[in-house]
Amino acid sequence: MTVTYDPTKPERNRPAPLPDSDADARLTALAAQAKADMTLIGHNHDWVPAPTDGAYNVLVIGAGQAGLGAAFALSRHRIGAVKVVEAGPAQEAGCWTRYARMHTLRSPKNMKGIELDIPSLHTERWFEAKYGKDAWDATDLVPREDWNEYLTWFREVTGTDVDFDTEVGSVAKPDAEGYFTVTATSPAGEIVYRARRIIFALGLKGGGGTFLPDAVTALPEHLRAHTEDDIDFAALKGKRVIILGGGASGFDNGGTALENGAASVEMHVRRHEIPTQNSLRWMEFPGMQEHFYDLTDQQKWDFSLFNGGLPQPPTQASVWRCFCHENFDMLTDTRWASAEVRTTDDGAEEIVITDDNGKEHVGDYVISATGYTVNLSLRPELTEFLDDIALWSDVFDPAVGHGMGLCPYLGDGFQFQAKEDASAEAKEYLPRLIHLSTGARASHGVAGNQLSGIFGGLSRVGNRIATDITKENWPAFFREFQAFEHVEIAEVGPHHEGDAWYPDSPRY
Ligand SMILES: Cc1cc2nc3c(=O)[nH]c(=O)nc-3n(C[C@H](O)[C@H](O)[C@H](O)COP(=O)(O)OP(=O)(O)OC[C@H]3O[C@@H](n4cnc5c(N)ncnc54)[C@H](O)[C@@H]3O)c2cc1C
Repeated sequence: MTVTYDPTKPERNRPAPLPDSDADARLTALAAQAKADMTLIGHNHDWVPAPTDGAYNVLVIGAGQAGLGAAFALSRHRIGAVKVVEAGPAQEAGCWTRYARMHTLRSPKNMKGIELDIPSLHTERWFEAKYGKDAWDATDLVPREDWNEYLTWFREVTGTDVDFDTEVGSVAKPDAEGYFTVTATSPAGEIVYRARRIIFALGLKGGGGTFLPDAVTALPEHLRAHTEDDIDFAALKGKRVIILGGGASGFDNGGTALENGAASVEMHVRRHEIPTQNSLRWMEFPGMQEHFYDLTDQQKWDFSLFNGGLPQPPTQASVWRCFCHENFDMLTDTRWASAEVRTTDDGAEEIVITDDNGKEHVGDYVISATGYTVNLSLRPELTEFLDDIALWSDVFDPAVGHGMGLCPYLGDGFQFQAKEDASAEAKEYLPRLIHLSTGARASHGVAGNQLSGIFGGLSRVGNRIATDITKENWPAFFREFQAFEHVEIAEVGPHHEGDAWYPDSPRY
């Protein structure tokens, strides 16, 4: 099968599926293979003490690739009683069929990922089972719907226990037994979970929230959106759309608006030109993915400052996707001085943006492709912990007063750390809260929730939690060892003729 990419067509490069019956049978066989592989090189017996009734060893919030990968990393250490809680429905594994409106991922298809040590769980195996090897060979970047489907398959095959349609609202400090109380809402009402550890895998918003400039928030809510919002693109048919920002999301949303019949899309870019270099491709090597954390604070800070000034480019396809529409325009070197709503002679509302040269731009709807902010004080689930969580600005002088100084100063396994003057209790329980989200970049670079370094991040999270569980339980483990009896020699003396030298069935 030949899959060719035609840049004049704004269509994603998704191979036609093989006949369903073949694909289903292959995926079933692959799932069986993956389960056998997980068992083969998995730990062969449980070791973590069971939590008290109804509680969990670890609660993971968010079932996107990071949350699913984290739960899997824990299962590779044979850490049981892990629950994942997800605000969205089962068919959506994270952002991919929501606000990620591109045709394909940007990440190279051939990287190590959430499959960790199990090759039969890799996207490539799934894609080949579904579409055939030729289709994989011919695919440059994985279509995002396929990535979503792969993640849901991964979730099922790894046996991850997820409560869907359940949104966490708050987390309370640990009780006398050491369990955090997590309160969530679901269609059935309020649910309260108790867990010794929590992994926050909340996605791009997880370090704070979406970022909207003041000029955008000055507009009424029904006339504007952030790219992460659930935008009704059908309602933009015939409308003049203004996009603020020329990054990946700007182009993806512009393309989506144009394909939905927007009268025009005008993109406003502050820079002289849009970014064309992708610094992530440099970062995708083991030194960055697995060992960035081990650099000095100064080295990490220098890297973050330099990298922070390097924006992520859109993909080539998403640029073409917009520019192949005649009613698309991109303005560079332009900044908003003000934004207001004006009523036309026929009583309609229109948005008037005045740029810093005094030129007016008129539209009906604004989509702000202005990214995200890291500021833990915006996270409702961290309210009780905020005062004690160490930030970069608390521990590293050059970070004081710098925006990046708001990033949490994380430990080697993405765990929060307490400020120096925090109470002894806070110093004990804060490292049991894991931040696998955007705020981790200052401490962990590219390791974390995105594919460019996700395997490095997940391995660190798994190792740290397994290490801490071992240390916490060491007195009990040692007592168990001291009381341990495992008799292997039933008889001290010569072999009796007729006795089997070896058991006729395996003992282990
Ligand atoms: C246009 C675009 C292109 C991108 N391309 C790539 C790419 O090629 N490669 C790549 O690696 N990344 C890409 N990204 C970034 C991508 O969004 C992240 O890498 C990825 O989503 C990280 O996975 P995650 O699991 O952390 O977050 P998400 O996929 O966002 O998943 C987080 C989950 O947490 C859930 N959640 C959040 N809050 C709560 C709560 N309080 N209670 C319960 N559940 C909650 C959400 O519902 C969501 O399902 C792209 C992003 C955009 C916008």
